Amino acid sequence: NKITTDMATLTQEIDKYARNKKIEIEALKIREQYRKEFIGNVSHELKTPLFMVQGYISTLIDGAAENETLREKYLKRADKGVERLIYIIKDLDMITKFEAGDLRLEVTTFDIVELVKNVFDLLEMKASKKKISLTFDMEYKRPIMVNGDKERIQQVLSNLIVNSIKYGEINGTTEVSIENLIKNKVIVRVTDNGEGIEKVHIPRLFERFYRVDKSGSRKEGGSGLGLAIVKHIIEAHQEKLYVESEYGIGSEFSFTLEKAK
Ligand code: ADP
Repeated sequence: NKITTDMATLTQEIDKYARNKKIEIEALKIREQYRKEFIGNVSHELKTPLFMVQGYISTLIDGAAENETLREKYLKRADKGVERLIYIIKDLDMITKFEAGDLRLEVTTFDIVELVKNVFDLLEMKASKKKISLTFDMEYKRPIMVNGDKERIQQVLSNLIVNSIKYGEINGTTEVSIENLIKNKVIVRVTDNGEGIEKVHIPRLFERFYRVDKSGSRKEGGSGLGLAIVKHIIEAHQEKLYVESEYGIGSEFSFTLEKAK
């Protein structure tokens, strides 16, 4: 808008304006592409469990319902499929809210030691099905008070521990540890001796819908959203998230939190 009599400056201004417009258009195109991909991924993720549920219901209608054992079996499977759909939709809902900047953190001061123990209790059954032992350094008898959104940090812990079970070896171990860092921070580590992740995948792990082994992960019932949610939550806390992994040896996911004064 600057009025100028200098032709050279004017041309420069016009060029700059055109460049900016071009960048804006490019950004819009990228966003549109991103949106299309997202919708494609969502429908793909929902299709699998939906078709599965439909399959069980059709089988029941076609006669399986008359046999008590089959009825029970297919109803339970259909129920599992619906449960899976609900999980995916909840995850999607959370991701879209985070990406739209609609999720506010409710920061309080809480004991991270107690939270780790709660998450272990919730996941013990899942771990024991794969004979994976959940261990937590018993040195932490005392509370370690941190600032954060307790419910969301619980979700971070839960997603990381569930992954360590899903991608862990039978008879393996998942260990959680907490260590003091300088500058009023603690670092929480979730370490497993599971299948590990090849280097090429590491930079993309936290993208939504990204999975290393698509068929393998599907068998484990993932949607590829768990780590994207973890990243959003930790970034919203303005904390750091790290991953170290060696293929065939195991993985370690860790994040920092602010210690309460
Ligand atoms: P998913 O729903 O597929 O588990 P996530 O976003 O939680 O999605 O994880 C993305 C991918 O990262 C997984 O599909 C898996 O390939 C890999 N991954 C995550 N955690 C681990 C782990 N502890 N050990 C090995 N691979 C892992």
